[in-house]
Amino acid sequence: MKLIFLGPPGAGKGTLAVLAKEAFHLPHISTGDIFRSNIKGGTPLGLKVKKILDSGALVPDETTIEIVQDRLAKADCQAGYLLDGFPRTVTQAQALDGFAKPEAVINFVLADDVIVQRLSGRRVCKACGASFHLQNLPPRQPGVCDNCSGELIQRPDDAPEAIQERLRVYKAQTEPLIAFYRQKGLLKDIDASPAPESVLAALKKALNV
Ligand code: AMP
Repeated sequence: MKLIFLGPPGAGKGTLAVLAKEAFHLPHISTGDIFRSNIKGGTPLGLKVKKILDSGALVPDETTIEIVQDRLAKADCQAGYLLDGFPRTVTQAQALDGFAKPEAVINFVLADDVIVQRLSGRRVCKACGASFHLQNLPPRQPGVCDNCSGELIQRPDDAPEAIQERLRVYKAQTEPLIAFYRQKGLLKDIDASPAPESVLAALKKALNV
């Protein structure tokens, strides 16, 4: 199965991708995760993109497309993959058409006020990356990771100004992809507001699995 997860920041694409990866046995390719692990490792790519990610803007298309093209060429992606957070611009989608044929594009639908509530309350573990939420999924002890006792922090791009910028960028650059893929007959809308297990059930139904 060759899948694309599309949707605004905070719609839970990453959480669902982890569940879907297990359920469908697919490699999960998250461009955001690739950039963040390069930033953490201090690689040349990480140094180049850190400021961009912190501000909520997009990494240039050329850089992002090259990374995804290389990743999809690997052996583990030949039978299928789950692309999370790519494409994010029409240029990226057109480039992807040249080297991959996605079978379905899942559009996670969520209202703006819920997006802001989800992103502003998110806290992630500095050590293991586990994700919590001040209201929806609080850690047992405030500020401490349930899994590894690491420190919980707010991602720089979850700060209020960065959230507004990410939403603006989503509407200007990524939302046009809904029409792009609907026209190709690939788009499946999923309500992203329920709990992750319910969203996964809806996803399975939409994909007939
Ligand atoms: P995410 O974890 O998917 O929310 O991505 C975090 C950040 O990584 C985004 O706000 C962008 O700065 C960058 N990023 C991730 N995917 C892309 C993409 N397809 N194109 C450009 N920038 C991206």
